[in-house]
Amino acid sequence: MVASWLVEAASAYNQTSLEKRDGYPAFVLLPVGHLETILGWAFQSLPDEILIGFDPLQTMSISDEIIETCQGADHRSDLFAGQAFVIGEPHLVNRGDSFSVHHVPEEWVDELFASDRGSRGARFTHWMHTHPNCVAIPSTADADAAQYTEGVDMILGIEFSPEGPLPWFEDAEGVRRPLKPESDEPKKGWGSWMSRQRRPVLGRASTGHSIHGLELIAFHRTGVGVNVLLVDDDGQPIGIDSLEN
Ligand SMILES: [Zn+2]
Repeated sequence: MVASWLVEAASAYNQTSLEKRDGYPAFVLLPVGHLETILGWAFQSLPDEILIGFDPLQTMSISDEIIETCQGADHRSDLFAGQAFVIGEPHLVNRGDSFSVHHVPEEWVDELFASDRGSRGARFTHWMHTHPNCVAIPSTADADAAQYTEGVDMILGIEFSPEGPLPWFEDAEGVRRPLKPESDEPKKGWGSWMSRQRRPVLGRASTGHSIHGLELIAFHRTGVGVNVLLVDDDGQPIGIDSLEN
């Protein structure tokens, strides 16, 4: 059973995904239960980033009704592998810093393809990695690692406290998809430090950390963004009225 704060956050996130759908050539459906599992791993692995691999859930294809609702004006149905299916269960593949996290351990690499498939081998269709206390915008190392991804690459930015050695970093360029309480307006300078002391809490991690915000993006190796919708166990986007019942 997924925590209620996360279900509420997923609902708000999906509303934004729907509003912005014309800005994306494709979308993916990620079960919110997987996101909760990944958050647990992420906090247990601090201060490292973690890398997660996924394959499409072949038993759960995306219905025409959902495609109709979620696709944008310039939708492409053939952008990446596994596009017709809900994303399957997550596998924790690696942990490390922002560079080493993409170099997966031997046992996860498909030896048939490893030599020509980059640092992550060919083991999974989709990938996600975390940015602890950093915005979800791809670094150069992220973009390089994604060149061999057949599905999509996702980045999960997690803003939490206590922060440890690396405070929240938000001065990056790129399209952001934050998921946080409305009143948490970023402020600059001294006021920023003051506001950090009492910023709203979105939810709690299993480790006891306060989660102040999440950011989730997906992108294709060609550099275009891919829209994300969070779904329940039946593959239904959470909080999207026109698809309920
Ligand atoms: Zn990264």
